[in-house]
Amino acid sequence: MAQYARMKDQHKDAILFFRMGDFYETFEDDAKLVSRVLGITLTARNSGTGGGEKTPLAGVPYHAVEKYIAELVGSGYKVAVCEQVEDPKKARGVVKRDVVEVVTPGTTMLAQTLDPGENNYMVALAFDEAEYGLAFLDLSTGEFRAAELNEENLLSELNRLDPAEAIVSYDWAEQAAALLEPRFPEMAISRLEEWAFSYDHARQVLLDHFEVLTLKGFGCDEMAGGVSAAGGMLVYLRETQKNRLAHLKSMARYDVADSMLMDTETQRNLELITSLRDGGREGTLLSVMDRTYTPMGARYMRQAITRPLVSAEAVLARQGAVGELHAEHGTRDAFADLLKTMGDLERLAARVGSERANARDLIALKTALHVIPVIKETLKSLKAGLSAGLRDGLRELKSLAENLDRALVDDPPLSLTEGGLIRAAYNEELDDLRTVSSGGKRWIAELQQKERERTGIQSLKVDYNRVFGYYIEVTKPNLHRLEGEYIRKQTMRNAERFFTPELKEYEEKILGAEEKIGELEYALFLELREEVAASLGEIQGNGRSIAQLDFLTALAELAARNDYVAPEIDDGSVLEIDDGRHPVVEQLLQGEAFVPNDTQLDTRTKQIALITGPNMAGKSTYLRQVGLIVLMAQVGSFVPARSARIGIVDRIFTRVGASDNLARGESTFLVEMNETANILNNATPRSLVLLDEIGRGTSTYDGLSIAWSVTEFLHNTPERAAKTLFATHYHELIELASSLDRIANYNVAIREQDDRIVFLRKVMPGGSDRSYGIQVARMAGLPRSVVERARVILANLEGEDLAPGGQDGQGGVEDADGTGGAAGSDGAGGPGSPAGAAGEAGTPRHGMPRAESAEYQLSLFLPADHPVVEDIKELDLDVMTPVEAMNALYRLQQKAADPDGE
Ligand code: ADP
Ligand code: MG
Repeated sequence: MAQYARMKDQHKDAILFFRMGDFYETFEDDAKLVSRVLGITLTARNSGTGGGEKTPLAGVPYHAVEKYIAELVGSGYKVAVCEQVEDPKKARGVVKRDVVEVVTPGTTMLAQTLDPGENNYMVALAFDEAEYGLAFLDLSTGEFRAAELNEENLLSELNRLDPAEAIVSYDWAEQAAALLEPRFPEMAISRLEEWAFSYDHARQVLLDHFEVLTLKGFGCDEMAGGVSAAGGMLVYLRETQKNRLAHLKSMARYDVADSMLMDTETQRNLELITSLRDGGREGTLLSVMDRTYTPMGARYMRQAITRPLVSAEAVLARQGAVGELHAEHGTRDAFADLLKTMGDLERLAARVGSERANARDLIALKTALHVIPVIKETLKSLKAGLSAGLRDGLRELKSLAENLDRALVDDPPLSLTEGGLIRAAYNEELDDLRTVSSGGKRWIAELQQKERERTGIQSLKVDYNRVFGYYIEVTKPNLHRLEGEYIRKQTMRNAERFFTPELKEYEEKILGAEEKIGELEYALFLELREEVAASLGEIQGNGRSIAQLDFLTALAELAARNDYVAPEIDDGSVLEIDDGRHPVVEQLLQGEAFVPNDTQLDTRTKQIALITGPNMAGKSTYLRQVGLIVLMAQVGSFVPARSARIGIVDRIFTRVGASDNLARGESTFLVEMNETANILNNATPRSLVLLDEIGRGTSTYDGLSIAWSVTEFLHNTPERAAKTLFATHYHELIELASSLDRIANYNVAIREQDDRIVFLRKVMPGGSDRSYGIQVARMAGLPRSVVERARVILANLEGEDLAPGGQDGQGGVEDADGTGGAAGSDGAGGPGSPAGAAGEAGTPRHGMPRAESAEYQLSLFLPADHPVVEDIKELDLDVMTPVEAMNALYRLQQKAADPDGE
């Protein structure tokens, strides 16, 4: 217990698994926790301190320990594994023990905790004035990078990485927790002493580990924050991994500017990796695009989708390789077959480097190495630059593969210490020992027959057990036939067991040889693993090349299967799509055919497309479709369209339905305005902005005014003039096109049939002048009486007839507006807008006098030189907080209602 207490003291933040014979035991609070989380029995034993105190105790058998550790780590705990580090038989006093590893959510290498198609990232964060230093690492593949970024980019990057664990220094831990916990509730946060992050120390740790004199080679020399974070990370790794880090061969600088910026919301809204519905994989872009065959290819695909490229040249390089593989389907099929046999080179390499690889891992590695020359040969037929680069980068490692062939049996056991791993003729000493062992065994096998003949006892047996070794067994009734030539060893109920000096001699030979065989095979295996480790850099390089090849092949396969085309890519201002489709929705539609749609935007001439149409018409689908097509194009993929021309986009912004943020406890409207503010502050003329129904979370007229002013701002502010698709059911906004020259109206066509509407899903030029809210509500199954009543109220409102009959029904209209999401919410306005009446929906909330709401309505549609518009132009959105923005909007709204300030 004293030894335990010493170990536990050094690992207070981990659960200590204390090896005792065939069990790992946990004690005290650890035992209570383990028993609760794993559902295993809690027992108690004498604490050994006298006084009869009992210590809680819970243990797991050694052979199942990985499963239990995986479960604890998966629940966010850390486990310190304390082993017996000397042979108990040879120990004097208490067996020596030591913690050999601390398994944490970010450092785990256990197969049970790793998803083959996903990286398992750990991040370290350093904070320095305005900049964050970020290091991220997947210990299971060896990818290690450092970056410096601002808070917004940090959060967006963390969203891409989805890290299992973050490491921060103690002095900054509270702030870090405030920043990270609400956004990444699953992420474990680990703390480290401040000195680990100090630049000088961190840098030295990195230099020592990589055995270099400067960090220039990694491009990280100038990056103080990144170096601090990376150094801190390494300190943590040394503690937890006990220096088994040979597979961390290098680090690389990571620049956010090399890929398209996407804030967290956009990544979520476009459903790239996880669906909005349940956070799962179904319905995501990844689920459609990932046609890879290897785990490393799957991880590459995932990374690529969240990091589209922003250099036309880089995009075209990928596209060229994809195009060639698309055309050469024989080659593509050949790669598919070869890739299927590859296994996970990256993770195998990491297992070798961290001294975890067993013989089966080396067999898998060998199998993969044998495929490399074939892939290289197949690559010869491809001319695209990327493919040629891959071919040059692949290392055959022939002699290593051959040596593994010579050394290892085809189907080795899991255990490394009990022999059976190494082939004959690989090592002379081993062969000799095996001859001794098998010769001895043959002699013993023959002994039985010889002795039966000699003694005439037909039931005489020669056998072996672990405790007593080899023996000759004679049943009691036959004992009298022996003539005293055997020495008694053990008495059984019905028999006696004997040995002879000769048998003893052979036994010693055999057992001695077998023990030596076990030891020698283990030593030979370790040598072999060392040999593999010496080529880790090349193996990891192969892993990366194969990942890329798999990714490119998958994109070609995707294009062929789904009838995609190669988009034209340039640095121009045009975004043009003919017959574009939504890549995911087109796969999910059953029975119904997806209706393709065109898109034409040009920053200089047709910057903003305003898309009106009733709920359910297909506006949101269309917006996302355009976003996804641009994104896919910049990933290097072909796109779902008949043709497309895409000027590179630096950022995609989205503002799409905010209802899913309610879980975070922020009001829908506030979230919506936060996101809108982000867009207005950060968009550039090279961005693509997708605005879906902004202003929904508030009253009709608040919402309409905000939508209006946002559109004007994007149109009239040259440095924010992003290509914009704006979907809205505020058909009043179609008026904007008459005063702003780079706005074009579109509508999603519907056909009226009797009393119903038929959705045609076709985006057509021109605005739609009605909302059809009541028709949609009816189709959604609202009770007939409610629909009929709504129709009467609408007729009253449209006639601006605020007779008591209409007023009575107003509560219903107001509610629908307030919740914003209901299908009937469009019903408030019709053509020629019922100014006074609909305006009242917002009135009570903002205390606007009823009598003046008509004037408010009028003023909204005045030309752009209205004082309110002037005020809007003067707002400095760069320096405003969301709350200030809302206050300003509120003042503006009041001013619009009462321009003279009376
Ligand atoms: P809105 O945003 O206008 O309310 P959505 O974009 O949510 O409408 O579309 C409603 C439904 O219509 C979608 O769930 C989808 O199944 C279907 N849909 C949308 N666009 C198309 C299309 N182009 N072809 C076929 N079905 C479509
Ligand atoms: Mg919608």
